[in-house]
Amino acid sequence: IKVQDYRPQSFIDFTQPENVKAYQDALKKVRAELVGKHYPVVIDGVAVETAEKIESRNPCDTAELVGTTGKATTQDAQKALDGAWKAFESWKKWDMDARARVLLKAAAILKRRRLEACALMSIEVGKNYAEADVEVAEAIDFLEYYARSAMKYAGFGSSETTWFEGEENGLMSIPLGVGVSISPWNFPCAIYLGMLAAPIVAGNCVIAKPAEDAGLIAGFVTEIMYEAGLPAGVLQFLPGVGKEVGEFLTTHAKTRFVTFTGSRAVGLHINEVAAKVQPGQKWLKRVIMELGGKDAMIVDETADLDVAITAAVQGAFGFNGQKCSAMSRLVVVDEVYDAVVNGFVERTRALKMGTGEENANVTAVVNQMSFDKVKSYLDLAPQEGTVLLGGQAPGEYGGTSGYYVQPTIVGDVKRDARMAQEEIFGPVVTVLRARDWQDALDIANSTEYGLTGGVCSRSRERLEQARAEFEVGNLYFNRKITGAIVGVQPFGGYNMSGTDSKAGGPDYLANFMQLKTVTERW
Ligand code: NAD
Repeated sequence: IKVQDYRPQSFIDFTQPENVKAYQDALKKVRAELVGKHYPVVIDGVAVETAEKIESRNPCDTAELVGTTGKATTQDAQKALDGAWKAFESWKKWDMDARARVLLKAAAILKRRRLEACALMSIEVGKNYAEADVEVAEAIDFLEYYARSAMKYAGFGSSETTWFEGEENGLMSIPLGVGVSISPWNFPCAIYLGMLAAPIVAGNCVIAKPAEDAGLIAGFVTEIMYEAGLPAGVLQFLPGVGKEVGEFLTTHAKTRFVTFTGSRAVGLHINEVAAKVQPGQKWLKRVIMELGGKDAMIVDETADLDVAITAAVQGAFGFNGQKCSAMSRLVVVDEVYDAVVNGFVERTRALKMGTGEENANVTAVVNQMSFDKVKSYLDLAPQEGTVLLGGQAPGEYGGTSGYYVQPTIVGDVKRDARMAQEEIFGPVVTVLRARDWQDALDIANSTEYGLTGGVCSRSRERLEQARAEFEVGNLYFNRKITGAIVGVQPFGGYNMSGTDSKAGGPDYLANFMQLKTVTERW
């Protein structure tokens, strides 16, 4: 495919008043055109009316219904599966570059509608302008990056084999078949889109099951994929309840692969049920998992403390800590503990709470379940450490009822405390005191997760040690530990954080292909 080399999208500069104005105009447009919309289940390109609907509410103002999606039943899921296998018969025969063009066209449409997608997420999940913008940029990047990555798997002999006299030998990369893609609400545009675009460009057909809390943005980008020319049946849009249609599809004999991003608990369950062979099943299901994290950043006594404090605030409270990569543990060497913690508390105190639409620094957490969960950790905090900032979940702001939680910092938490081990997924940071550098690294490695991590230090020796020994999939030095860019920082964790499949990495598409070696004796 002859297109310019992949370059990540740049981000919009919201210090420029004209960009803020453009965002506010997009909010008005979305309020006029998309809020209140219903996105139905789509099977084989046809909208299916379902008896029930899923409501999507504004977390910053729970009285507001943002819109609805269909609520697929298991019968719908069965139809989606049958239709996808039918579509697979022709989709697998398309040229790789023809498939890639669909992604490139979708990227072009999403670029034109970038601010609408952003504004919709401000209303639906409470992202502020910059958080929404980096996410839509990531979604465009996934489309463009996977379209280009696909080229290296095109045709016979795409992977290197060794010369052998008298024979032609080579590897073919072939798609797996029909899979299900189950995504979370916290990156409902980028992760949702990336997780379906990658298997699709590789020649598979996908049943996409978006998260219940963010069905509208999923519907919005799904329409873009159809507009870009994706044939009916290649992408089945199946909003529904995880425990119902999700469970049905992950256990089904005709599901060839499951790609899942979400919590550890649900991921482990899927891993288990997908491993059980069903009557009539003729393959081992492939399971790709991106799960939670309990991500730590270490600050040692040699660090530039200002850089470290900025990195801590950005990494902890971007999108209210609702990122798998969020810094939820700050590990500080005793010698600089007070200086770092005081600076961290002061800088966090300056964060403004409010709605995504107002472009507040900290907005509401996504739903009642999440609010209750975060609150339960706030209740635990005084027993496990010292609450240095926040600690309350007011559940309203400026007279509006929403799932608001104060940015919270809890100091002197022990490494084995629940707050230091369990993913909270909200604006809550535990700070741990380390005796020295080695102790800090041991603390950072003392969870079962292994997603992101960071070190702020000026010691070359320590950075090199961390490079080798810090057990995470994405490691950052002297910067925030969130915000991986497609192609630049391939993303994914190991240990209980997932199968390390590295979304936005050079080998990601291989997750959705199998290899066939063919030999011809001349
Ligand atoms: P979740 O596990 O509650 O839900 C994720 C998806 O799974 C949803 O679409 C849900 O409907 C579906 N689901 C629920 N039960 C199911 C079942 N029994 N069978 C099949 N599907 C089912 O997660 P969430 O709250 O949407 O997302 C937050 C979690 O995702 C956090 O733990 C976060 O760390 C993780 N996450 C990880 C990454 C990563 O790349 N590693 C990225 C983003 C989010």
